[in-house]
Amino acid sequence: MRTTQRKTKLIFTVGPATQEAEMLEALIRHGVDICRINMAHADHDWTRKIIHNVRAAGESVGRHIAILMDVKGPEIRTGDVPETFELQKGEHFDFTHGEGIGGVGEDGVRRVDVNYKDFANDIRVGDTVQVDSGLLRLEVKEIKDQRVRCEVCIPGPLGNRRHINLPGVRVNLPALTEKDQSDIDVGIEENIDFFALSFVREPADLDTFHDYLRKRASPAKVIAKIEDQQAISNLDEIILAADGLMIARGDLGVECPFEDLPVIQSRAINTCIRQLKPVIVATHMLESMIDSPIPTRAEVTDIANAIREQADCVMLSGETTIGKYPVECVDTVNRIAVRMEQEQTQPLRKDLILNLPKSKMLRSAAHLATEMDAPILVFTRRGIFTQKLSSLRPNVPVYAFTDNPVLFKQLLLLHGIEPFFMEFVHELEDNIQSAFSRLLKGGWCEAGKPLVVVTKMYAGETLIDSTQIREVSGENTES
Ligand code: PEP
Repeated sequence: MRTTQRKTKLIFTVGPATQEAEMLEALIRHGVDICRINMAHADHDWTRKIIHNVRAAGESVGRHIAILMDVKGPEIRTGDVPETFELQKGEHFDFTHGEGIGGVGEDGVRRVDVNYKDFANDIRVGDTVQVDSGLLRLEVKEIKDQRVRCEVCIPGPLGNRRHINLPGVRVNLPALTEKDQSDIDVGIEENIDFFALSFVREPADLDTFHDYLRKRASPAKVIAKIEDQQAISNLDEIILAADGLMIARGDLGVECPFEDLPVIQSRAINTCIRQLKPVIVATHMLESMIDSPIPTRAEVTDIANAIREQADCVMLSGETTIGKYPVECVDTVNRIAVRMEQEQTQPLRKDLILNLPKSKMLRSAAHLATEMDAPILVFTRRGIFTQKLSSLRPNVPVYAFTDNPVLFKQLLLLHGIEPFFMEFVHELEDNIQSAFSRLLKGGWCEAGKPLVVVTKMYAGETLIDSTQIREVSGENTES
């Protein structure tokens, strides 16, 4: 269980700065909920070792966190160069395919390979090629066979294997590359909880991923990373097809005009909440804390904004992979989240479409709990009620008890949900009493104060859904 009572969840990306047991334990103790492994920078041995280390750290702290494997998807990269090229403004420069290590062509123009054979087919004269998150920018001037000749508009260094963005270009690569598939196989073998797919362009990309997992009997959830204009055009359908969304603001800010980012972020968060899907805001949240123990004022406000918009989760990347202050970053998010969540006065989201009678019952339970300022206790096996309660964004804590170990970890992503794993027994009342006992012992509720309990109960022989107002008695000694 988390000691910080924030509703907004926190993902950290593991890297050289955080891979050792002691640091992992500190991060877990300070309240991270999910560990992200970025497969753009991880080999399989390291990945397996990290998964083992994270689980061992959780065991030693007594708090288990989930693991998310972020796969690269259809990403274009430059090849190797003999040494870093300093590209000059106005210089002509060629992108090629299959010509090997970069260098100088016969006509004296410098060149580098790209890992994508259809590069010259998909791109048009006048298009922009952005390298290294837009640090380098080139305009396409001429296309001949596999050679794309460009003019450098924004100069800078070009090192080995740099990431390329082609704003507005439909890239003809499969959703899952061979490398992705072999990475996913490791994730499945290690029973990880979430996958994130980079550069999702359309719902079919997610169907491909879900099929891949289904054939291998993996219960992992798939998070769609939206990173380009095509994803924004298909946003609603992508959210429907995914188990959750990551607003990958790094690439998104290169592929789309950066002034559109806040608008895209708000729209994506609201659509996810309405469609009962969790949503993560990622990248550059505390970028300055890679080198500094305190955040900039703008970063504080950016995190506060994501929390005000009611995202499920915020994510740290460079801050915890290579940063000097990973624990301070977690504490910074804790402080901002706790403070901002106090400001949230709206009792429940009004924009959720809950048509089923059972869903309406959940809305009433959330209303009741908010009115009584009482925590909600929900028993869950598939997580459906819990997701709906989370999406209503009630102002009270929601304690979700489950006997499903896979679901327990997946609930860690959901806004406002504090999951508890518990073996259920046949007698429903015994389960309620055991849950009360756990909550009381952990300081999650107070003796003599009410709780709103959402649970099945017997009406004669029939099992029905119920909402109950219950009081936890201080004498409860069950474990
Ligand atoms: C991003 O682009 O914001 C992102 C999260 O993706 P990655 O770190 O994989 O580039």
